[in-house]
Amino acid sequence: MAHEGAILQTIGNTPLVELKNLDTGCCRLFAKLENQNPTGSIKDRIGLSMIEAAEREGRIQPGGTLIEATAGNTGLGLALVASQKGYKLILVIPDKMAQEKVLHLRALGADCRITRSDVGKGHPDYYQDVAERLSRENPGSFYVNQFANPANPLAHEASTGPEIWAQMQQMLDAVVVGVGSGGTLTGLSRYFARVAPHVEMLLADPGGSVLADIVNTGRIQKEAGSWLIEGIGEDFVPPNCRLDGVKQAFEIDDRESFEAARLLLRREGILGGSSTGTLLAAALRYCRAQTAPKRVVTLVCDSGNKYLSKMYNDSWLFEQGLLDRPQAGSVVDLIV
Ligand code: PMP
Repeated sequence: MAHEGAILQTIGNTPLVELKNLDTGCCRLFAKLENQNPTGSIKDRIGLSMIEAAEREGRIQPGGTLIEATAGNTGLGLALVASQKGYKLILVIPDKMAQEKVLHLRALGADCRITRSDVGKGHPDYYQDVAERLSRENPGSFYVNQFANPANPLAHEASTGPEIWAQMQQMLDAVVVGVGSGGTLTGLSRYFARVAPHVEMLLADPGGSVLADIVNTGRIQKEAGSWLIEGIGEDFVPPNCRLDGVKQAFEIDDRESFEAARLLLRREGILGGSSTGTLLAAALRYCRAQTAPKRVVTLVCDSGNKYLSKMYNDSWLFEQGLLDRPQAGSVVDLIV
């Protein structure tokens, strides 16, 4: 590799726009367009921060191998940075993830190993356990481990948080996020606890994940289920996930998430991914429940391009039992 490409300098500093065509009650709702990062997601930030931290700490050698467990987006961020910096990358990916992500990863040169989505932590086929095992079998490799790597929340504390605060002109009441690794939540919680402790952190959690119950009741009420939303929701609390600062959690099912994402495209022209729908649905519920005006920020975590054949496809929604009439527009028509 002759030069590290300038593309890495385009990570972060994403735009923030107000969502003016949605019913937000007496509140104003803004969305940070993380889909505009170079591989199309918020995870480019941590792809860069985790690799650069490992370089600084001498944990990877030139041309060395990185290993990670990922829903796809962290893999894309890592694959971009690894390809620019000349590292090899092995990724372990659960089989429910959109095919477009896997094709993009393979095109970037990543070695993708697909494993089961229907097993939990402790099972030998669980994606994080497979990645950990591979890193033991490859001496000298670096297990990135976004779930516990401190450079993950640090990226959001050092960049995403200050960007939001400046873009909102220091007038902000609440931030709505989801949790995959917990990096976004923990980094933003730490930043706002320091500069603006009045800012409420709110969690948008897919139905079936255990996190919303922990926030709202202090304990896990039921066993983890499954959900179609990609990138957020957990069956355990990752070490990088700090839930204690979260004021309230909203449990959003697949149908409500997909409807919200499609509404965002129709009304605002923003093509977000499935987790964006979950976050937007939670943000809308929060905004509509307020009796005093608030300024609220949420994230467009990734681009909807990779879900065009899934949640933006009426036939797919119909097959999943999430659409009554397989006709263009019918989902949106249901909630207008
Ligand atoms: N949305 C999407 C689409 C993601 O891929 C992820 C990360 N898996 C998140 C949200 C959640 O981010 P975090 O890992 O910082 O909790």
